[in-house]
Amino acid sequence: MFTRFAPSPTGELHLGHAYSAVLAHDAARRADGYFLIRIDDIDGSRSRAEYVDASLADLAWLGLEWHGDPVRQSARLGDYAAALDDLSARGLVYPCFCTRADVAASLSAPHGPSGTVYPGTCRNLSEAERIRRLADEPHCWRLDVTRAVAGAGDLLWEEAGRGTRVADPLAHGDIILARKDAPASYHLASTLDDANMGVTHVIRGADLIASTDVHRLLQALLGLPTPLYRHHALVCGPDGKRLAKRDAAASLASLRAAGTDGSALAADLAADRLPAGYFLQNP
Ligand code: GLU
Repeated sequence: MFTRFAPSPTGELHLGHAYSAVLAHDAARRADGYFLIRIDDIDGSRSRAEYVDASLADLAWLGLEWHGDPVRQSARLGDYAAALDDLSARGLVYPCFCTRADVAASLSAPHGPSGTVYPGTCRNLSEAERIRRLADEPHCWRLDVTRAVAGAGDLLWEEAGRGTRVADPLAHGDIILARKDAPASYHLASTLDDANMGVTHVIRGADLIASTDVHRLLQALLGLPTPLYRHHALVCGPDGKRLAKRDAAASLASLRAAGTDGSALAADLAADRLPAGYFLQNP
């Protein structure tokens, strides 16, 4: 068994991250497997080196041990580009010149499981127009999901202990695979990395369950194995809302500064026991 914890170094880790990391770590340890760390630092404008160091220090404070060096997404850009080229050569990718505001303003843009669904404005541009606009307009690259699904076969995946699910990538519309300023989207990078790292069990928060629709499609398109998934409940704070990076009181750094014992906290989290005021909730 290979599990992983994949923090984005855009802020301090909090109790929700600790819960996720402990579940993934303990699952691997129980099975005599491997717990891996990946740093999701693909977003160069928001990632900070100090949060990488702080996250690793927090995980060590919890008493978690990981196998090998953490994988950095920023070191894997070549793989992401190769996958994008592959999909592009198969006619499954197109450049999109719309701004966020264009997409939001589109009356036909419905809402999907992961936000506004792209209405497909740039899907049918002529080749001549694409070439002209690629030369000087900012753009991202989108997956033509309808076309991709047509050749992808059955998109089944397993939620641990809860049975087989059928992925529904069409509900997400033509998702972004890469941007000019971020060479791979979360979906593309995460799917490729999980396969490259040999992850057999993806254990992550239930807020990411809808992403599995897209990840399962990308696995089918790129010939990657499908791991088993476990989407766990989310940690909520005293205000009843799920924790966010701005909830300083729940940050592991502040718990550590207040004298909390990290290993004891990890043991409590493994048993679904949370500090006073915090609770688990399935969205
Ligand atoms: N880096 C992602 C996050 O912090 C997690 C990605 C994943 O577990 O698939 O939300």
